[in-house]
Amino acid sequence: MPPSLPALDPATGEVFAETPLTPAEEVAGIVARARAAQPAWAGRPLAERARVLERFQLALYERRREMADLISRENGKPLGEALFADVAVTLDLARYYLAHGARLLRPTPVRAGNLALLGKRGRVHWDPMGVLAVIAPWNYPLLLPAGTILPGLLAGNAVVLKPSEFTTRTAVLLVELLAEAGVPEGLVALVVGGGEVGAALIDAGPDKVFFTGSAATGRKVSLRAAEQMIPVNLELGGSDPCLVLADADLELAASGALWARFTNGGQTCVAVKRAIVERPVYQRFVDLVVRKAEALVLGPGLAPATDVGPMIRDSQVRELERQLAQAVARGARVLTGGRRRPDLGPTFFEPTVVTELPLDAALWREEVFGPVLPIVVAEDEEHAIRLANDSAYGLSASVWTRDRARGRRVARRLEAGAVQVNDATSHVGTAEVPHGGEKQSGLGRTHGEHGLRETCRPRYVGVDFLDWMHRPWWFGYHADSLGARDAFLRFAFAPSWLARLRAMPAALGLLRNRRRL
Ligand code: NAD
Repeated sequence: MPPSLPALDPATGEVFAETPLTPAEEVAGIVARARAAQPAWAGRPLAERARVLERFQLALYERRREMADLISRENGKPLGEALFADVAVTLDLARYYLAHGARLLRPTPVRAGNLALLGKRGRVHWDPMGVLAVIAPWNYPLLLPAGTILPGLLAGNAVVLKPSEFTTRTAVLLVELLAEAGVPEGLVALVVGGGEVGAALIDAGPDKVFFTGSAATGRKVSLRAAEQMIPVNLELGGSDPCLVLADADLELAASGALWARFTNGGQTCVAVKRAIVERPVYQRFVDLVVRKAEALVLGPGLAPATDVGPMIRDSQVRELERQLAQAVARGARVLTGGRRRPDLGPTFFEPTVVTELPLDAALWREEVFGPVLPIVVAEDEEHAIRLANDSAYGLSASVWTRDRARGRRVARRLEAGAVQVNDATSHVGTAEVPHGGEKQSGLGRTHGEHGLRETCRPRYVGVDFLDWMHRPWWFGYHADSLGARDAFLRFAFAPSWLARLRAMPAALGLLRNRRRL
C-alpha cells in the first residue's frame, strides 16, 4: 500500500477519507504526460474546448450539494458558505469565461502608429502557456484552483494541480468532474502531498506557476521558479483595512465588517483584518460590532445554523493565540471572545473583538488568519488613509461612507488591488473583476480578462503591407540619409505643426535613399 494522506474533519478531528500520496519522484512524469496531451487540446477548435467547460459547469451544478458537503466537511466552513462562496462563484466563473472567452482569445489586431513603420500590421495571438502548475491553499479549495484551471483550459493549457494537503478530497472531486466533462486523459492531473510535492512540481519545469497561499511560501515558490526562469502568479496573504468614515451607515458597516472578518472562520485572504474608525463614530461602531459578534453561532460547518465554523488545524489556532496574547500583554483589550472552545471540538475559537492595541503589535502588522478583529481609532480621513496604507500587504480594502463620491476618492488613495465602497470581499466573487494584490500580497491577477490573459503567451505576427518600399532604417548610411533621419524626427515629433510641415520635404528624402546593402 502506498502511503496516504488522511482527510481530517476539523469540526471533530476525525479522519474520514484517505488519498494516496504522490511520490515526489513521480511528479516529473505526470508533468511530462500533461505536456504530451496539451498540443492536441490546444489544437481543438475553441468551441470544442468551451463545450467541455460547459459540461463541467453542468456537472458541478448537478453535484453542487455533494461538493459543498465535502468542502464543509474538509475545511470546516458553514455549508451555506461552501455553496455560495466556492460552488456558486466557480459556476459563475465558468459562465463568464463561456460568455467572453472566445472574444478575449481572438487575436488582437495591431497597426503601427510609428510613421516610419506605416504599412506594418499584425496580430497578437493569445497562445496557451503550455503546462500550468496550480498550487492551492485550503481556505477556498474549489474556487481558488478553479479560478485558474477554467480559463487555463479554455485557452488551451494543460494543468497539474497540487492542492493543499488539508483539502485534497475537494480537489479529487474537482478533477473527477473535469474528467466527466470530457477533459482528455492526462491533461489535468493531480499531485497529492505537502510542500515537497509542490516543490517537485516546480522543479518539473511547468510553463507557469500559479501559487495561492501565504507570503512566506510564495517567496520560496518564486525563488525556486526563478532558478528556471519560470513565470509566477502569486496570490498571497492580506491584511485588508476597512475604513469606517464618520458619515457611514454604522449598522451596515458593522454588519459588513463582521461578515467580512468572520466568514470562513476568519480564514479568508480578502477578509477585513484591520478596522479603522473615525473618532466621532468609533465607540458606536465598536459597540455594534461587539453586539453582533456575540450573536454569532459557533459550531460545525455542516449544522445549518452555524455562522462560524472551526479553524482548519491546531497549528493555526496556536498562531492566532500567539498574536492575541502578545497584543494583550501590551495593553490590548479583548471586548468579546478570545478563547478556544474545546467543548465544541479541537479547533474552535470564539469570534473576538480587540481594541486599544499598539500599532506595532503582531495582531496589526501580521496577517491574522482566524476570527479576531482588531479595531483602532483614526482622528480623521487623512489619518485613516495613512493607517490603512501602513502595511506590508496590499490585497484589498473597503471604505464605508454615505457619500459615494467621497468613498471613491478615498478608495483611489488606498494601496490595494481592489477597494469596495460599502462592501468588502465580494469582488472576489465577481468574475469580471481582476483579483490580486500589491506589496507582499502578490504578483499578477486571476479572474476576469486579466486572469485569462495570465494563462496565455501574447505572440505577435506582423506583415509589411508596403514590402516593396525601401526600409529607410536599413544599411546604406551616408551623410544625406542622416539629415533625412533628423528631418523625419522633426516631422514626426516637433511640438509645433509648422515645424513639422517644414521638415516634411527633407524627411521624404528617406524614401529616396535606395542604396540597399
Ligand atoms: P501555504 O502557503 O501554507 O500553502 C499553500 C500551498 O503551498 C499548499 O498547497 C502547500 O502544500 C504548498 N506549499 C508549501 N510549501 C511549499 C513549497 N516549498 N513549494 C511549493 N509549494 C509549497 O498557505 P495556506 O495555509 O494553505 O493558505 C493560507 C494563506 O493563503 C493565507 O496567507 C491566505 O491569505 C493566502 N490566500 C491568498 C489568497 C489570494 O487570492 N490572495 C487566497 C486564499 C488564500
